[in-house]
Amino acid sequence: MLQTLAHTRPVFTLAAVMLFGLAIGSFLNVVIARVPARRSLWRPRSACPGCGTAIAWHDNIPVLSFLVLRGRCRACGMPISWRYPIVELVTAAAFSMAYLAFGPTPEFVAAAGLLSALIAITVIDLEHQLIPDVITVPGVLAGLAANLATGRVSWLDSAVGVVLAGGLFLVVILVSGGGMGGGDLKLGAMLGAFLGWKVVLVALFVGVVCGGALAIVLLASGRSGRKDPIPFGPFLAAGGAVALFWGDRIVAWYTGGFGP
Ligand SMILES: [Zn+2]
Repeated sequence: MLQTLAHTRPVFTLAAVMLFGLAIGSFLNVVIARVPARRSLWRPRSACPGCGTAIAWHDNIPVLSFLVLRGRCRACGMPISWRYPIVELVTAAAFSMAYLAFGPTPEFVAAAGLLSALIAITVIDLEHQLIPDVITVPGVLAGLAANLATGRVSWLDSAVGVVLAGGLFLVVILVSGGGMGGGDLKLGAMLGAFLGWKVVLVALFVGVVCGGALAIVLLASGRSGRKDPIPFGPFLAAGGAVALFWGDRIVAWYTGGFGP
């Protein structure tokens, strides 16, 4: 069914993927707001944090409602965070990229799942300086299961990825005595499970380079002291997304260019 649709109506299929991404992005906003507070994702329904008025379904349509309401609660006029439409749009864009890269395959489902987790983790780490175990620990198992199901990465590569990425973070944590946390370790292990041990090294490399570059810019411009913690989760998540889409090619280029 999907195959036929993709063949005959690629534009409609991509539009459907975008709408699906917007809807999942809306759900990720709930995850981002509630998981750090340890609140249920399912109950109660969303309400304005200012006045407590329950948000009607027609005021809860991704992006559109934010525009119609001009970014304010209908009942009390309290501003709604820009985070809501941004997360929805980023998720729609990420799902579209995954669909263009993987097509209507189980790999697309695995990629969409990983990207959703990375988006939620990025925003939660930026706002709270923590990476919730309730996302990364099941994420390790989801990554192993996804590769068992799709065969994209062998189960051994996937399992070695968990141990290698987790182990590298463990060494950094032990050597640095802080600065890097257990949340980063579990996020690294999750990426290892999804990407396998070779491609997760690309993710870690991209994350370290981007994080290091920003740290140098902030230090040099005097906007950040040497002791100010910079959350590493968003960089690791960005590295994971880059590696998901281009990791295989980067590994092939690297081993082909410099390997035996
Ligand atoms: Zn309100």
